Amino acid sequence: MSKIAIIGAGDVGTTIAYTLQLRGLVTEIVLIDINHELARGQVMDLNHGLFFVRPVHMYAGTYADCTDADIIVVTAGTRQEPGESRLQLVNRNAHICKRIVEKIGTDNSTGIFLIVTNPVEIMTQVVIECSGLPKHRVLGSGTVLDSARFRYFLSRNCQVDARNIHAYVIGEHGDSEIILWSQVHIGGTPLDIFCKQCAVACNAMVNKEKIAEAVRQSAYHIIEAKGATNYGISLAVRRILEAIIRDEHSVLTVSTWLSGHYGLSDICLSVPCIINRKGVAQVIETPLAESEEASLTRSAELLRSARRNNSERQNSLQSSQWRP
Ligand code: NAD
Repeated sequence: MSKIAIIGAGDVGTTIAYTLQLRGLVTEIVLIDINHELARGQVMDLNHGLFFVRPVHMYAGTYADCTDADIIVVTAGTRQEPGESRLQLVNRNAHICKRIVEKIGTDNSTGIFLIVTNPVEIMTQVVIECSGLPKHRVLGSGTVLDSARFRYFLSRNCQVDARNIHAYVIGEHGDSEIILWSQVHIGGTPLDIFCKQCAVACNAMVNKEKIAEAVRQSAYHIIEAKGATNYGISLAVRRILEAIIRDEHSVLTVSTWLSGHYGLSDICLSVPCIINRKGVAQVIETPLAESEEASLTRSAELLRSARRNNSERQNSLQSSQWRP
């Protein structure tokens, strides 16, 4: 039996519930939202499709329902407006994530937190720091979606099934993300060697730039066109949940706390990790090209500075609210 609590019944939270419902992976799903009526409406709609899928107990609940959840998925918070970066959401969403941790409390002694709210690496760090939970039990959806987008664009360009492509995006799920060209393998063959024997006529160098740009700009293009992203991220989250629930030991680029990995400490970044029933079982330190290593360090600095600015802002807000 697996119980999933989803906090935030907006576009992302509800589509995650829907993808879980279609997959028949779990037996209980509770949707929680500050707007309880919204959660109630979403659940009614989803429940009316139950006849067509495997049984799952789905309801709109409260934070008390998180106590015995196996996994708590956090999607609550503000989303990007067209043209807005994920880092611009940091102050609003850090406040929401802290409040959620306070409301859930420490009664759930085994559950795993999966953070989706953006900026996802910083929100993962906020939840780890506020909850005091063991670090392997709090992870973010990270660059799992970006890695899937990378594989999709490579698949289109090289005309190979995306499932036969190994390719990763690491660092920030955002503008400073690092596209690991040095690690791309198609059918077990390094990309540069594959290109020499490939029948597709393309200018690999030009296409590399185009593909990298398409991956980085994906969310901006989707938000510009339809206001939000929900399907790709929900399938990515379902994949992470599956790896946890089925104890799969799958390699996924989730956001996790680094302790000396890649020469970085006390920061959450998205890197390849082995995911099993316990959450993050191991961080994999994949060899990076020199330029990729430098970009990862830059990505870490950028996130540290956004986090620092957020903490300073919180401190100044608290002191301005203080009354003798
Ligand atoms: P949305 O506005 O549709 O839904 C957000 C929901 O959160 C709303 O229903 C709101 O009522 C609820 N909420 C706000 N504060 C709350 C609180 N304290 N407790 C409970 N519920 C609360 O937004 P969305 O499109 O579903 O996006 C949600 C988040 O997911 C955003 O931060 C967005 O940037 C992020 N996101 C992340 C990824 C990723 O790859 N990590 C992808 C897409 C979206």
